Amino acid sequence: MQNIFPEKKLGFGLMRLPLLDVTDDKTIDVEQVKTMVDMFLEKGFTYFDTAWMYHSFQSENAIKEALVDRIPRDKYTLATKLHSNFIQTKEDRDKVFNEQLRKTGVDYFDYYLIHDIEVDSIQKYEDLEAFQWLAEKKRQGLVKHMGFSFHATADLLDEILTRHPEVEFVQLQINYLDWESEKVQSRKNYEVCVKHNKPVIVMEPVKGGTLAKVPEQAEKMLKNMDANLSVPSWAIRFVASLPNVKMVLSGMSNIEQMRDNLSYMEDFKPLTDLEITTVHAVGEVINSGITIPCTGCSYCTPGCPMNIQIPKYFSLYNKDQRDGADHAANKAEYQKIHETSGLASECVACGQCEGICPQKLPIIENLKLVAAALE
Ligand code: SF4
Ligand code: SF4
Repeated sequence: MQNIFPEKKLGFGLMRLPLLDVTDDKTIDVEQVKTMVDMFLEKGFTYFDTAWMYHSFQSENAIKEALVDRIPRDKYTLATKLHSNFIQTKEDRDKVFNEQLRKTGVDYFDYYLIHDIEVDSIQKYEDLEAFQWLAEKKRQGLVKHMGFSFHATADLLDEILTRHPEVEFVQLQINYLDWESEKVQSRKNYEVCVKHNKPVIVMEPVKGGTLAKVPEQAEKMLKNMDANLSVPSWAIRFVASLPNVKMVLSGMSNIEQMRDNLSYMEDFKPLTDLEITTVHAVGEVINSGITIPCTGCSYCTPGCPMNIQIPKYFSLYNKDQRDGADHAANKAEYQKIHETSGLASECVACGQCEGICPQKLPIIENLKLVAAALE
């Protein structure tokens, strides 16, 4: 298989960028992103991954300022995506694409993905001939490589790759917590890509931060392997060690996270068999204690009629459930989030969020748990 990706396997995911105002994800701290971009490029990494809807549609603008306007085009590669929620007609495909070219300031994309294929969106993509449209963009030189990101079962992935051999790569949610999950099917989906000889890009290697801050027992197990390595380093290196994984996206949110990621990915060393076994054991420990497995992607929030900051509440709830949690402080933090968000108990059960959640979480029921614990 010819490698269509940069040699260094770490990609800069542009979905969780640093913010000037932590309550407003449109307020990207572009100056800090510029510093991070420079650090990243300096160490020889070149892959940047954005999407139409990231940061409430501001991520593509931010990368224009932080990267495209400052760095020669042949020094980096840029990926973006087309999501079914924003296209109703065939004409909409071009409207979004042309606007993406304008927002990012490039005249071609190195990688372009049909975004978030799942059971409910695949038919729409087929009806709107998204694959054929993307192949045409590639023929025109506006896209160098075509792929899709995927959030469903291995059976469906197998069907799609059989129907669309023109696809060059697949982006999958893989991490050591979801490896054997029946819902996410990390391992099974990975194996389908191997069968079809398609390289894999990994998203959510740290599961939205869940694997950056793990319960005490799990942290001890990781620190016993190497006290100098950070907790998230094991999650990133675990997926990067899979032979068919050619790129690992990390949504770095500040300079410190960037520095940490670069430190072990600059001269990447795959995990040993013993380390892999230990990491799986750590996954079991964490899985037994997780309450709401939200990755914090924020896909669910823009359409909420009650402006409920769902992932912030879920993250706080999970923190509150851990051993030794400071319940009073968490309740105070809840009220702080509420200053710019509807209450969990104000959910009107419209279902918008559940329709779009890639993790298929029962958000309405989970918000009731949040309200019971923290209001
Ligand atoms: S179900 Fe509740 S949380 Fe979800 S979008 Fe509707 S009001 Fe918001
Ligand atoms: S609830 Fe689902 S859509 Fe919303 S942030 Fe969490 S994982 Fe993403």
